[in-house]
Amino acid sequence: MSTIILNGKEVANQWEKEIISKVQDLKAKGISVCLAVARFNDDEASKVYVKKKVAMCEKLGIKPILIEEEGLDQVEIEKRVSSLNQNKEVNGIIVQLPLPRGIDKERVLSLISPEKDVDGLNVFSCGLLYKNLPGLRPCTPSGIVRLLKEYKIDLVGKRVVILGRSQLVGLPIFLMLLHENATPTIVHSKTKDLKNICKEADILIVATGKAKMINREYVKKGAVVVDVGISRLDGKIVGDVDFDDVFDVAGYLTPVPGGVGPLTIMSLMSNVIKAASIQSGIKDDLV
Ligand code: NDP
Repeated sequence: MSTIILNGKEVANQWEKEIISKVQDLKAKGISVCLAVARFNDDEASKVYVKKKVAMCEKLGIKPILIEEEGLDQVEIEKRVSSLNQNKEVNGIIVQLPLPRGIDKERVLSLISPEKDVDGLNVFSCGLLYKNLPGLRPCTPSGIVRLLKEYKIDLVGKRVVILGRSQLVGLPIFLMLLHENATPTIVHSKTKDLKNICKEADILIVATGKAKMINREYVKKGAVVVDVGISRLDGKIVGDVDFDDVFDVAGYLTPVPGGVGPLTIMSLMSNVIKAASIQSGIKDDLV
């Protein structure tokens, strides 16, 4: 069997069409959709990310509000978030991470109203995920689930190994796949016998941020390999998986770029539509 490339770009393009149509449906009902993107750090990568989010909003017909303020203290940042919570025009709020040194991230994220928490990272949203109740889910894990479903990869009972336990990726994808009736295991930097555990996986999800750390020795023949990592190596963007080495062992494999990345931003946009739909009392059927 030849390896199937999990083409995230293609899935994202289809998702984009669905979102545009959803935005138009809402507009036809007199509802406009608005996302506030707030950057309080002076991080160069964050500047690029917020611009990409704003550009995607504009492309999809979502109104972006961009707040870029550096040098604010905890109290001032919290005031900005509270004011966005109160702004009835705003359906979704993103506070771009990382926050500056000395700022209490959890306090800021948890100040975002749960119904506007389109990154799905505040404690309330995490609690809804934990309990498998409807809510706004973290974007990268949602994108991964969408990708696996688009390729009709059966999750029920599957042995999934997730490398990485971050609150952004590893932990929420663990919960989401558990709720899909998979059998997930998380491994991390302190795990013993990592390679052999990975080799047992029907589905291997890698989110370590360590460029090309996963080679064919970690992969069971025919496994689904999802590479979340984004690193720069010798001037090129690469993932956590050594694509060329793993290619003929994996059954399914995501490329980097063009795999998980394009789905993350569409998940975010989908969450904004979901938030707007819920706030206006219209049931959402997108996600
Ligand atoms: P974090 O740094 O927060 O977490 C990395 C995790 O990987 C930690 O749990 C760490 O273990 C584990 N880890 C690190 N090295 C090893 C190792 N050698 N063996 C086993 N486990 C290891 O990263 P994120 O989860 O935020 O992101 C991971 C990667 O995904 C990054 O490259 C990031 O850029 C990318 N990313 C991509 C996105 C996309 O849209 N494509 C979105 C979000 C992130 P421990 O906890 O023990 O330290």
